[in-house]
Amino acid sequence: MPDKIIIIGAGVIGAACALALQADGYDVVLIDREAPCAGASSGNAGVIVNASCVPTAMPGMLFEVLRMLGQPLPPLSIRPTYFHKILPWLIRFVWQGRYRAATENATHLHALSQYAVTSWHRLIGESTLPSLLEESGWLKVYESEQTYAGTARARHLMDQIGTKYEVLSAAQVHDLEPNLAAIYKFGIYQRDCLRILNPNRLVQGMVDLLLSRGGTYSQFGVERIQLNSGNISLTGPAGILIADKVVIAAGAWSRSLARQLGDDVPLDTERGYHLMLPASTQSLLNGPVMNGESSFVLSPMEDGLRLTSQVEFGGLSAAPDYARVRSLLPVAKRMLPGIDAREESVWMGFRPSLPDSLPVLGFSSSSTGVLYAFGHQHLGMTLGAISGFVVADLVAGRKPVMDVSPYGPQRF
Ligand SMILES: Cc1cc2nc3c(=O)[nH]c(=O)nc-3n(C[C@H](O)[C@H](O)[C@H](O)COP(=O)(O)OP(=O)(O)OC[C@H]3O[C@@H](n4cnc5c(N)ncnc54)[C@H](O)[C@@H]3O)c2cc1C
Repeated sequence: MPDKIIIIGAGVIGAACALALQADGYDVVLIDREAPCAGASSGNAGVIVNASCVPTAMPGMLFEVLRMLGQPLPPLSIRPTYFHKILPWLIRFVWQGRYRAATENATHLHALSQYAVTSWHRLIGESTLPSLLEESGWLKVYESEQTYAGTARARHLMDQIGTKYEVLSAAQVHDLEPNLAAIYKFGIYQRDCLRILNPNRLVQGMVDLLLSRGGTYSQFGVERIQLNSGNISLTGPAGILIADKVVIAAGAWSRSLARQLGDDVPLDTERGYHLMLPASTQSLLNGPVMNGESSFVLSPMEDGLRLTSQVEFGGLSAAPDYARVRSLLPVAKRMLPGIDAREESVWMGFRPSLPDSLPVLGFSSSSTGVLYAFGHQHLGMTLGAISGFVVADLVAGRKPVMDVSPYGPQRF
């Protein structure tokens, strides 16, 4: 009998781990307290940024954050009631912005992300799901010289680490995206990326693929994890489940589960929003474009244009504040004058983020029977497939293609 492995969390990370472990012959059970893909994996911008390496915490970040908080539409905001809770995280975050730490984090991020696109092809290549992926570039546009100059550190890091990009002139930006207003003086363009036409359908499709290959999905919320001699039990309102091994891939909710195994990881959430514009707007852009001044993304999806917003620190329980993403509509209209700016729907999701911008991938401190796969911050869609393969390698006792020690929970 193959070992039974339960994966907690049916977002992109849990679904990727499930498929990779199933390919190794395990009896895989994917569980989630809600329907599959109820979390951050459904409403994101859908960009698979191959070889992405720039961590969120960068040198000069503190001044940048203070500057942003003073803007009329700040790309980053903190709920006043959450400030005291996020403060320890922010202190660690600022500390990770030191030149040396940022360079190390970038190196470790790149060690994973360089396999982003190839891993996606390997994970779902033999299914119909690649029809939801399209080859695309990743374009950031800048109106002011000052904002573009502010990217110097990020460009330097990309040069150092080896992430390829091109700096585009106004004319080159126009050639790539002729419907953008002619106000952008610079572009930073990464080729060889993918865009996901519908992230929710992709993850749902991964779960269907798991089921079609003999795996199981069960709606089950986990409250308690207990290590027994020879197995692991998971307890929740629906009863008890027993497994030989467990993978915790519960996104932004993973901290309390890891804590039960003795790992207090500083996981918090960078909340993000999206607003869908009508289907007629979908064809106005050839690929996703980030507004460098206001840090939002316009991403063409199969059902319309998705405007995804920036970062809000507010924890897991505060109600969404959709005014934030709505306030970006006039800026989006200025950026892409042809858009029909009627709102179709709004959404909020919880990015699972650690101060060093690296995910947690590895064994729990208490047992090699429990593994972690969470904390993928702004890059969960990018790093989903490679994270699944790393977890499968660790379970099988194979050596992953990169050194995984930088992602261990013991690093904190
Ligand atoms: C606005 C926005 C835009 C983004 N754009 C991009 C992008 O363009 N490219 C990119 O690479 N990334 C992007 N991201 C980041 C990406 O969406 C996330 O990193 C990724 O979805 C995280 O996946 P996950 O599986 O870890 O978490 P989730 O998708 O949140 O899944 C976690 C699951 O665990 C379940 N769960 C939680 N607790 C329990 C429990 N106790 N028991 C059972 N189940 C539980 C939840 O119900 C949930 O379904 C974006 C994020 C946001 C918010």
